[in-house]
Amino acid sequence: MKNLQARIEEHINTLGQFTATPGNGTTRLTYSKEDRQARDYLIEKMKEYGLTVHEDGLGNIFGKLDGTLKNAPSVLIGSHFDSVPNGGSYDGPAGVVAGLEVAALFAENQIKPKYPLEVIALIEEEGARFGGGLMGSRGITGLLSEEDFKKLKDKDGITTIEAMEEIGLDPLLPKKRDPKTIKAFLELHIEQGPILEEKNIPIGVVETIVGLTQFEVTVEGQAGHAGTTPMDRRSDALVTAAKMIAQFPDLAIEEGEGTVITTGQLNVFPNGANVIPKKCVFTVDIRSGKEEHIQNVIRKLNELIESYNTNDIRVLAEQQLYMRPKAMNQEIVAQLKEISSKLELPYCSINSGAGHDAMVFSDFTDVGMLFIPSKHGLSHCPEEWSDSRHIANAVQIFFETAKKLTGTE
Ligand SMILES: [Zn+2]
Repeated sequence: MKNLQARIEEHINTLGQFTATPGNGTTRLTYSKEDRQARDYLIEKMKEYGLTVHEDGLGNIFGKLDGTLKNAPSVLIGSHFDSVPNGGSYDGPAGVVAGLEVAALFAENQIKPKYPLEVIALIEEEGARFGGGLMGSRGITGLLSEEDFKKLKDKDGITTIEAMEEIGLDPLLPKKRDPKTIKAFLELHIEQGPILEEKNIPIGVVETIVGLTQFEVTVEGQAGHAGTTPMDRRSDALVTAAKMIAQFPDLAIEEGEGTVITTGQLNVFPNGANVIPKKCVFTVDIRSGKEEHIQNVIRKLNELIESYNTNDIRVLAEQQLYMRPKAMNQEIVAQLKEISSKLELPYCSINSGAGHDAMVFSDFTDVGMLFIPSKHGLSHCPEEWSDSRHIANAVQIFFETAKKLTGTE
């Protein structure tokens, strides 16, 4: 067998070819032709590495190395293999490939675990075809029900069931898994941010996947003629919104510890060049690894909003989404750090600012997650790149961790 890093590069490069937009990044939507091609490759490799392959009723792929214990729960290792439109070759596949190569090391070293090891390749994490995202992990854990799954359609009106059948998958197979069949879940993912590269540290041990909340704020004023309304007679919804938005960064900075706040969407009504804005609707997205920080920023946001409510301007904030931060399993986190030290791989603790399948699994089983550096912190674009050497490092760490978790040694 070729060396580990060369095999990783081969997997990443091969999977990267299964794109609907050659020359313009990876576009691999769930249940597409490219999904089928990537799926066939992954299944072939899983079999080559001695794993028993099966797919579930969502199209998630599982490659299992049996353990010596009967009916024992599995240690799952993997990530997703779909992509956003014109994304990169690493977001998702890096973690699937890492899982594959951990299994390869089990095979090479002829290790017989007590608990089974399962390499998993998950569908539709990005939600680029059917929306929502995290569909594979939500389906396995039962957060996405059979009925809700069936109702989902893509932008052309094709249902999940039709799309699955189109590439030869069987939607009648079971979807939800009994949590008792899962012992732990390990996921490698690219950082998708600049921290590890800037610090020049090859491994990030994820402590927490940040919690987030989203608000929709509506500011209502009075429309009027842009030429004839004197400045002191205006109730300009956009000017009020702009003043508020300009103060948001400080709310997060005061809180610190990586707390972030973003307004990414803003709509102005009636949106005419010569009309004073009557209404303005914008979003606020607040994220932090600690729930108290999220709560504090929410309180300050509400105070700020209240201070802009006058006789002429009405401001209303509606909470749209609230998700608690998800802590990774402390024992696995400690193991990942200890193993990194033993392997003389520098590491640091890091929080994940993005949601991942690991976040979904963390409510059902013990989860551990590693990050590797992203070049220039970029992802969800063709320029997305990570060093195969870093993936190989993570494979070594997960190999040792998986040996412990599966009761080998
Ligand atoms: Zn991802």
